[in-house]
Amino acid sequence: MRAKPSFTAGQLHRHTSPDELARTTRALRATGRKIAFVPTMGALHEGHRELMSRARRIPNTVLVVSIFVNPLQFGAGEDFERYPRPLEADLEVCAAERAELVFTPEREALYPDGAQVTVHPGPLGDELEGAVRPGHFAGVLTVVAKLFNIVRPDYALFGEKDFQQLTLIKKMVRDLDMDPHVIGIPTVRERDGLAKSSRNAYLDAGQRTAATALSAAVTAGAYAGAQGAQAVLAAAEAVLAGTPELEVDYLALRGPDLGPAPDQGEARLLVAARLGGTRLIDNAALHLGGGELGTHG
Ligand code: AMP
Repeated sequence: MRAKPSFTAGQLHRHTSPDELARTTRALRATGRKIAFVPTMGALHEGHRELMSRARRIPNTVLVVSIFVNPLQFGAGEDFERYPRPLEADLEVCAAERAELVFTPEREALYPDGAQVTVHPGPLGDELEGAVRPGHFAGVLTVVAKLFNIVRPDYALFGEKDFQQLTLIKKMVRDLDMDPHVIGIPTVRERDGLAKSSRNAYLDAGQRTAATALSAAVTAGAYAGAQGAQAVLAAAEAVLAGTPELEVDYLALRGPDLGPAPDQGEARLLVAARLGGTRLIDNAALHLGGGELGTHG
């Protein structure tokens, strides 16, 4: 018989082995506690902390955080190698947020030689981010499915910052009959509106100033919602055009589930742009038509 994993409630425990983590979460579940899970790639900032703090506030839950820079979701020539990996600082953040379990697997533990099966995201996986980053969402959904199978969370929290990712994870859970209750958390921003992101560390001072145009654009678009779709896009485009350093990959108005935008009602405005070698994304919720002011999510 295997020894029971040792676990002291209220303390941070770090696991690198998927089997060991699965055993610990199983044992915790058997004691009646629920599992709230926050998957991350590390370089933790206030956005991640908000997810953790929301997770912790769900009654009777253990907060489990994973830190894994998932090679499968990076394309050739993307920033996998240079992605920041400040593990010690990240563990301190997890402890400060009162996580009780941190999962930091090695690449080989999640993708042993010969691993070939992946999750296919369906048509939405080839649009917007997926059109610019082919294979990205297959990589994301595959690692999230694997993490769900290891952790078996009751709740899984994801940021609206990566709105297409959140939408696809909800679809995966529904379409593949998975258990976790997926919770989307509004984007945490810098004081000037820039969405917090681990990639903001790549920006030099000039780029950092220019980067505020993304949030300014989706905010301007959201506030034009009452005048309809064309006004939304025109307002956002005007802001982007004022920042020529930005190379815009897309500006798109969609429905709340990223289907086609409705004539009236809830919608999402999404933008992606490059600043030098750094790719940034943002989005906002809005209400189309009806003469009301839009909202900024
Ligand atoms: P990442 O480490 O970039 O993979 O992000 C891990 C989780 O944190 C994802 O669910 C992201 O959507 C979420 N996240 C990243 N940045 C923010 C932010 N500024 N506000 C809220 N959630 C965020």
